Amino acid sequence: RTSSKKTKDTPPAEVAGVPLTHPDRLLWEEQGLTKQQLAEFYAGISDWLLPHLVDRPLTLIRCPSGAQKHCFVQRHSWAGLSDFIHREMVPDGKGEQEVLLVRDIQGVVALVQSGVLEMHVWGATIADLARPDRLIFDFDPGEGVDWPMVIEGARAVRDRLKAIGLESFVKTTGGKGLHVVVPVTPKATWKEAAAFTRQMAEAMAAEEPDRYTTTSVKAEREGKIFIDYLRNNREASAVAPYSTRSREGAPVATPVAWDELSPKIRPNGFTVQNLPKRLEALKADPWADLTKIDQVLPETKRARRKPK
Ligand code: ATP
Ligand code: MN
Ligand code: MN
Repeated sequence: RTSSKKTKDTPPAEVAGVPLTHPDRLLWEEQGLTKQQLAEFYAGISDWLLPHLVDRPLTLIRCPSGAQKHCFVQRHSWAGLSDFIHREMVPDGKGEQEVLLVRDIQGVVALVQSGVLEMHVWGATIADLARPDRLIFDFDPGEGVDWPMVIEGARAVRDRLKAIGLESFVKTTGGKGLHVVVPVTPKATWKEAAAFTRQMAEAMAAEEPDRYTTTSVKAEREGKIFIDYLRNNREASAVAPYSTRSREGAPVATPVAWDELSPKIRPNGFTVQNLPKRLEALKADPWADLTKIDQVLPETKRARRKPK
């Protein structure tokens, strides 16, 4: 262990056996939330968090001085990387690239120690990065879109998916919108998955052009919901369920059950401070079936034409 300013009487801070430096550093000033409290938050909800985080390449938002201060994106290792954060070399288009992964709560605490305030994950695991196991429809409200309309949008895509035999799940992002997640047994390629989600998003926009758009042009989004299907690419990421956001109020991206999704639930309403209580009170994990479901995408036209 490296030197610590603390005396013998106060043992150096650690959570889940991982040492923390500057445990009292304020990460969300307004809430008075410290680095140690963030680490303890994750340790306390690890059974909820880890199934959605472990073995997935990470895109990290690091904010060493706290939320709403200077933050930066990190996908690769840095000097002094903790042994609890794992590095893997994986093939990419041209050659190889390094990705970062965690396998346990120690890894998560090590991320907190490094100033990580947001953990984003790929939609595939290290077991097969070429074939996604989670697809995402990202509902982004444009200017002037009210919250109930976002909920209707998420329900609409759920209904469409259901009509072709696919179950889906929803989470608040901790920001402004919702993510609808479709778990799939890794079979289709990223290309096929991207084509599938694009087709569905475009069909929604074509049928209800006053409500939905698939164009990323900001000016064309006013009063509409941008259905961002572009998350469904190999190296695109989405915020991990139960990750905090580096935004005001220490919000947490939170899985909810479809039947509890109502305007009373706000996209940034669950926080480091109130989420543990919610989880304790829940009768069942709203995403319990997500990891059990065995479903595959309908074959795309391309796949039918050129069977492999
Ligand atoms: P909100 O509900 O406020 O939209 P969000 O997490 O969905 O929150 P988005 O900006 O819609 O935020 O992005 C969706 C996801 O895409 C993010 O969770 C993030 O993982 C990823 N993402 C967005 N922008 C970038 C970017 N510039 N580089 C890499 N990944 C990004
Ligand atoms: Mn979004
Ligand atoms: Mn988006």
